[in-house]
Amino acid sequence: MAEQSATAKKRHVPLDKIRNIGIIAHIDAGKTTTTERILFYTGKTYKLGDIDEGTTQMDWMAQERERGITIVSAATTAFWTPVVRGAVPQEEHRINIIDTPGHVDFTAEVERSLRVLDGGITVLDAEEGVQSQSETVWHQADKYNVPRLCFVNKMDKLGADFLATVQDIRDRLGANPAIMTLPIGVESSFKGIVLLLDQKAFIWKGDETGAKYDITDIPEDMIDQVKEYRAKLIEQISEHDDTLLNKFLNGEEPTVNELKIALRKATIAYKIVPVFCGSSLRNKGVQPLLDAVVEYLPSPVDLHEVKGIHPQTKAEEIRACNNEAPFCGLAFKIQSDPHVGRLTYVRIYSGTLKSGSYVYNSTKDKKERVGRLLLMHANDREEIPEAFSGEIVALVGLKDTTTGNTLTDDSHPIILEGITFTEPVISLAIEPKTKADQEKMGFALKRLGEEDPTFTIKSDPETGQIIISGMGELHLEILVDRMKREFHVSANTGRPQVAYKETIKKVAEAEGKYIRQSGGRGQYGHCFLRIEPKSRGEGFEFISEITGGDIPREFIPPIGKGAKEAAENGVIAGFPVVDILVAVYDGSFHDVDSSEIAFKIAGSMAFQSAVRQADPILLEPIMKLEVSSPEEFMGEIIGDLSKKRAHILGTGKRGRVLIINAAVPLAEMPQYATILRSMTQGRASFYMEPSHYEEVPNNIAQKIIAKSVKNQ
Ligand code: GDP
Repeated sequence: MAEQSATAKKRHVPLDKIRNIGIIAHIDAGKTTTTERILFYTGKTYKLGDIDEGTTQMDWMAQERERGITIVSAATTAFWTPVVRGAVPQEEHRINIIDTPGHVDFTAEVERSLRVLDGGITVLDAEEGVQSQSETVWHQADKYNVPRLCFVNKMDKLGADFLATVQDIRDRLGANPAIMTLPIGVESSFKGIVLLLDQKAFIWKGDETGAKYDITDIPEDMIDQVKEYRAKLIEQISEHDDTLLNKFLNGEEPTVNELKIALRKATIAYKIVPVFCGSSLRNKGVQPLLDAVVEYLPSPVDLHEVKGIHPQTKAEEIRACNNEAPFCGLAFKIQSDPHVGRLTYVRIYSGTLKSGSYVYNSTKDKKERVGRLLLMHANDREEIPEAFSGEIVALVGLKDTTTGNTLTDDSHPIILEGITFTEPVISLAIEPKTKADQEKMGFALKRLGEEDPTFTIKSDPETGQIIISGMGELHLEILVDRMKREFHVSANTGRPQVAYKETIKKVAEAEGKYIRQSGGRGQYGHCFLRIEPKSRGEGFEFISEITGGDIPREFIPPIGKGAKEAAENGVIAGFPVVDILVAVYDGSFHDVDSSEIAFKIAGSMAFQSAVRQADPILLEPIMKLEVSSPEEFMGEIIGDLSKKRAHILGTGKRGRVLIINAAVPLAEMPQYATILRSMTQGRASFYMEPSHYEEVPNNIAQKIIAKSVKNQ
């Protein structure tokens, strides 16, 4: 193997010197710029990409560049030695950065990144404050208990207001922010920051990348303000540490180091969110932010152990997070790569993984060979011989592993908690432009589907149309775009439609018989199916209750396959049939004429006729909606929502704004952004995400059915 690079040699850092972090933000808050600066200051890139010119390191996919948004989380590694002495040794630390997208349509990307992170930096725009998507991702991070720092970016921008943004963090995010820095100057005069605990000022000598800074005493005119905020900070930290609290109550001042250690604990326990400020674009504030990542965000050691279950016994299993424990890791992302094929990103929680070794996929009960191990830097990679606990690496050579699967040592199997994804709610008909496109389209869609668990593909057997479904319009648009660029397939698309589903309300039985005898060898497939409703979200299940030899064993799976395929296009309006149990309980066969295909057709026929007798109904996606608005518009917003079949779940107050929580059918929400804006003069905002599926009321179902029949 080629000689290892400096990065690979340095890799084997002790676990307590690793930070697995993600940078989380609303679109345009400056996540990409901040990530770029981090890579620059940690010495990873020597030429800065500028987002406005579309040459950044992390946003490497073409569409991301054009649209200026981050879609696919790339993982990268950087090294940092803290500038200022603190609670952790002033030694080199390794920071693994997982990039997370800001757009809500890419929830799958956000979920999987958050699942494997140890800590996060939330980047906020100092002028805009907390925006709706920051709020969403913030709550997603809460779900996975990810400790966070906030970076209030764009302090150089007109209208930047650090303290108002901190207030917003408290009000809108319900967090406990600790002001760690004060800006020196603001807007065009912003030139540095004061670190409150250290009582030092960082003043940059220019705007350019790599501009030098001086560490100085606090500027004269800020001494009183620093005193005031520092006292508040000390009090806030002391509240979370008994020893410090005693000191504080006795009027003694704790040492800076004691404060930093206590703050580290409180941050990791997610009791305090330290807030920093700066301007990434003007290269100010990034180094102290990196110090803070090392100082306050957890290392894999702080995780101590991971829990899971034994695949067979289902008993709880625990792994210590160190290199000596048996190997276990979570596959959190699949990416098809033009050079090496399929890349599987894995976060290693315990043990060591060697290239060329075999691992056991305990979720799927499959052995997989790890061909190569790669350390990723955006779309750049580096081959490594082994990877350790706490690391995030890409594996080449895995065939069956998908997002959320656990990989483990096969003599010590464990299944870790997976990643949950919501069902796609928007569909689009898609048609290849030419015959050549038609041939390549299937392959392209399959590849894209493997990468993205929230993207599904199906074909309508009657019209031959391909229907793709995803989490939002932008999500589907980008996938169609990727198909064009990466696979050179051009397609026409229809209008986005709500992704309805079908299910049944009662048990029913039916017979399926496919018998053809026309000279020579005939066809003979015959079965009886019973179908039963299952709970919402349980999907499709097929079981066999055949005990004797009424149907030979090899013909049973084809019956299930036939039923499953038939379920893709329901009997009401051609939507997929879900939440259903299918049991084959009787049938017959013919010694010569029976074949897999004949049983598959029989299964499909029996399924369709059973569904017709089982009170089939339509299901529609229900969205979780949160509207935040000044009080005066509340009545009107709620009135409008009631007309939209919404259930108001509750209202509350967050700072000066009121919050309405509701569940509302997606079908009622087209153009909601525009509607809300005109109703409130643009003073309200909303966030919406898929929640679950519910039965469509009958009168509305009739209209949907009529429309879908007309379309066919
Ligand atoms: P992302 O969507 O969160 O990744 O944000 P980007 O990093 O792409 O930044 C969005 C826009 O804000 C770009 O035009 C950046 O140049 C600009 N921007 C980023 N950081 C700053 C900053 O510190 N100050 C100002 N004034 N603009 C910034």
